[in-house]
Amino acid sequence: MLDKEKIRESLTEEDITKILLDLGAGDPQRDREGNMVYRTICHGGNKHKLYYYDDSKMFHCYSGCQTSFDIYALVLKVKKWENNKFPEVIKYVANVSGKWLTKDYNKETETRCRLDLWKNFGEENTKQDLKLTNYSKNVLNVFINKPHELWINEGISEETMKTFDISYYSKEDRIIIPHFDIDGNLVGIRGRALLEEDVQAGKKYMPVRVNKIEYSHSTRLNWYGLNITKEAIKRRKTVKIFESEKSVMKLYEWYGNDCDAVASGGSSISPTQLKILEDLGVEKIYLCYDKEYTDDDNEQKQRYGMKLIKAVHSVCQFKKVYLVLDNDELLQCKDSPCDRGKEVFEYLVRESEKIENNCKVTPLKIYSEEEAKELTKGIFKNRRNKQGKRND
Ligand SMILES: [Zn+2]
Repeated sequence: MLDKEKIRESLTEEDITKILLDLGAGDPQRDREGNMVYRTICHGGNKHKLYYYDDSKMFHCYSGCQTSFDIYALVLKVKKWENNKFPEVIKYVANVSGKWLTKDYNKETETRCRLDLWKNFGEENTKQDLKLTNYSKNVLNVFINKPHELWINEGISEETMKTFDISYYSKEDRIIIPHFDIDGNLVGIRGRALLEEDVQAGKKYMPVRVNKIEYSHSTRLNWYGLNITKEAIKRRKTVKIFESEKSVMKLYEWYGNDCDAVASGGSSISPTQLKILEDLGVEKIYLCYDKEYTDDDNEQKQRYGMKLIKAVHSVCQFKKVYLVLDNDELLQCKDSPCDRGKEVFEYLVRESEKIENNCKVTPLKIYSEEEAKELTKGIFKNRRNKQGKRND
């Protein structure tokens, strides 16, 4: 049986953001103390007055509700479910966060539980509240149809930016990144802040608001770039999954109609996203995640390794999963694998590791430091160090 206390205590801010995105709250803002502040979806409000306190794992609504509650109570409120649906709420939270924690952990209950949850999630998606909204494309006329030089300097041409409908919002000083679904419907708009104060406040990438409408969407229900790259993906039966929109554009710049890249908008991949890839006939997946460690920081490396293992787990139904890793220290911390040019990227893809035995990791479990070390041991090869030793 799922352990609701254990799950709630294990939720990180990233998990909370994932759940709230799924509930339609959009991305959080931060207050001065660094607490996350969401739109008040608790009572259907629009202002950012729903605070989350990570220490106590509690929310407080400073507007309509004027009260505190935990994540489960919030889900109940938002979904307008009766109290007798509480088991569904726990499943929902476990599922979206990937924290399938049980009281009596064993392999068999875990497998059963997991299958159960995936199934439920599939049903969830057909419900109204987990659907993408089709926004009118007229809103795009508000923006200036001119690619920003910041990205031109990063090697993304005007032509490519036009293909992806990149524009500029002068009112908020943001580069506009429209998100389309596979059929080209507008499902969300994100903005890349250019004002230093926005960037400092952690609002570098945020949903854009025009005339009181926030064009936010659950990024877990969609693949960015797929409207452009779906034909290549179908033809090649291969997909390269990146974290950011910009990486997709960089690959399009290099490969044009052969570009098979998409962006996931996060590290874990949802059943809805998997289904889309399956339907396209994808057989081979390259996970091209940002490098999140400096080369001499083993602790960062281990944390990153666990993130990768969990990501691999979420696609374990695919037989050919490759991890694009920087074993030769060609990238810097926070780089995407395509940030150091085409040659480096192609080298990293050639050297990428096929991951065997994908389902070794069980999301149900919180791994001890020792176990995490053991699991991530095989991931990083670090050839530079090896060569160094050989020369000694
Ligand atoms: Zn409220």
